[in-house]
Amino acid sequence: MRTFTKSLRNALYRPWSLAILATLLSASLLLALSVPIAMHQVQMREREQMSVHGERLLERLEQLFNQLRKGLDDLNNQPLRDCGPLMIDQLQQVSFQYRFIYEAIFYDGSQICSNWPARLSLTPSPGREPDIKGPVYRYWLTSPNEPDDNLAGLMLGRGDFEVTTSRGHLSDAVDLPPDGSLLVVVDEGKRALPVLGQAQDWPPSAGWPPDDGEVVVTDYRMLYRLPTDSSDYQLVLSLPRAEAKAYLAELWWMLPGSLLIALCMGALVLHLARQRQSLGGELQGALRRGEFKVRYQPIVDLNTRQFVGAEALIRWRHADGTMTSPELFIPLAESTGQICQLTDFVLVRTLEQLGPVLRANPQLYVSINLSACDVMEPRIGKVVARLLAIHEVAASQIAFEVTERGMIDVEVARLKLQALRDKGHSILIDDFGTGYSSLAYLQTLPVDCLKIDKAFIDALGYDAASSGVAPHIIRMAHALNLKVIAEGIEHDYQVELLRSEGVVYGQGWLFEKPLNAHQFRERITGGRRLGPRRADDDV
Ligand code: C2E
Ligand code: MG
Ligand code: MG
Repeated sequence: MRTFTKSLRNALYRPWSLAILATLLSASLLLALSVPIAMHQVQMREREQMSVHGERLLERLEQLFNQLRKGLDDLNNQPLRDCGPLMIDQLQQVSFQYRFIYEAIFYDGSQICSNWPARLSLTPSPGREPDIKGPVYRYWLTSPNEPDDNLAGLMLGRGDFEVTTSRGHLSDAVDLPPDGSLLVVVDEGKRALPVLGQAQDWPPSAGWPPDDGEVVVTDYRMLYRLPTDSSDYQLVLSLPRAEAKAYLAELWWMLPGSLLIALCMGALVLHLARQRQSLGGELQGALRRGEFKVRYQPIVDLNTRQFVGAEALIRWRHADGTMTSPELFIPLAESTGQICQLTDFVLVRTLEQLGPVLRANPQLYVSINLSACDVMEPRIGKVVARLLAIHEVAASQIAFEVTERGMIDVEVARLKLQALRDKGHSILIDDFGTGYSSLAYLQTLPVDCLKIDKAFIDALGYDAASSGVAPHIIRMAHALNLKVIAEGIEHDYQVELLRSEGVVYGQGWLFEKPLNAHQFRERITGGRRLGPRRADDDV
């Protein structure tokens, strides 16, 4: 199982695998998003088209209704009230004057006549109750199923007169989209009569009237309520919804777009992964070319300012003299797994450079920074034991610094650190206070010393000594019998405050910046040579 996950991880860490994975993931994500976007897009367009149609329709309908009403008003305003030749003449004049009036009728309950001498249409039959009864006008809507265009349409009445417009006139005036219907909704929204187009199921499944805005969308149709002044009826335009092919058409242009973005993502990931791989390669080359150096920053006794030890810190100096901060390349080496090689390098170099001075000063120690993979694997114990044997240095003179981040699996870390401690090494918790661990939890770990992070030492300058975080950590550490080293001391007042809290050890630029091996040895021996100067002392 472990080998399987390891080989899976190795396969995934290859730039091409990562790029393909990124492409596939982003393609599926984008496509999954495209469908609702396409639907939304089509719906928006449908609504827009609907409003455009609706507005045009309303304009034409207003023109049409105006003519019908004016014609009726004219007829009501003239004095004739019988079906004589003068009346026929009058009715004909009205129908000539108003182009939308197909037929003008006089009907007083007993006599009936129209502008058409043979009275071709007159629909609906006289006496039928109007579909809409307004305060001035009455409206009849005639069946759109009537095959004769002239016999179907709309009729308006006022007094003893009626005027009609035929379906032919209506469809000339109203440019209805294919399969569209123009409905007149009456009886407070309960009934919808078709004026043009097919009758529709009423009320629509989405309910009527529309909750918000003027549009109701059902599964198959869109209904648009035309704004009218009349409270007697509502004009509704009903259009079929876009078909699936409209969505597909929308998706068609989204598809190449999504694929292009996914490919770009893949290319980006490939580029980054390769860059990372090449940085990893560079790290390897730098090791080979000897571009890595080790510096030693003294750890001092705050009371005597004597050096009690040092922290080994790695440096990367490129061939052109430029430096790369460990804060940049250490995380990279951690992620590529090359950190173990760097740790080994620091150990080897420390013992090579400081072996004699450590042998001559058995109280002096050097602390080595460990990363998570050093802590988790048993390797480091063997490497250090071999080196200590070669250089005849005591295990107590090599300490290890681990951060809280470095203890990914606390149980494993506890075992490994205990093993190192059993050999005689001290364990220091680095950057204490920046992680998640509480002091109580520390109690369960095999630890000798806490290094308080520079951030808390800096705060000492601003907070009263008794109120900052550092004094709290210090007191708790002492209560747990842990030694304390204060990191990043830059000012004398920090030393005084720390001493007043009982801190004995410190490290910082106030005492020394990281030194090369030669400088460090000189400070320890006071200039006395313990052996020949080494070529790799990195002046
Ligand atoms: P760290 O282990 O906490 O090391 C202390 C850092 O603080 C060092 O930075 C040191 O130069 C700096 N420092 C010490 N005193 C002062 C001071 O008074 N003022 C200021 N401003 N800085 C001070 P450096 O060498 O850049 O190292 C940064 C970090 O890189 C280290 O933090 C450690 O986490 C990591 N690192 C360095 N060398 C190694 C190594 O060999 N192995 C591993 N795994 N990590 C390393
Ligand atoms: Mg450290
Ligand atoms: Mg630190």
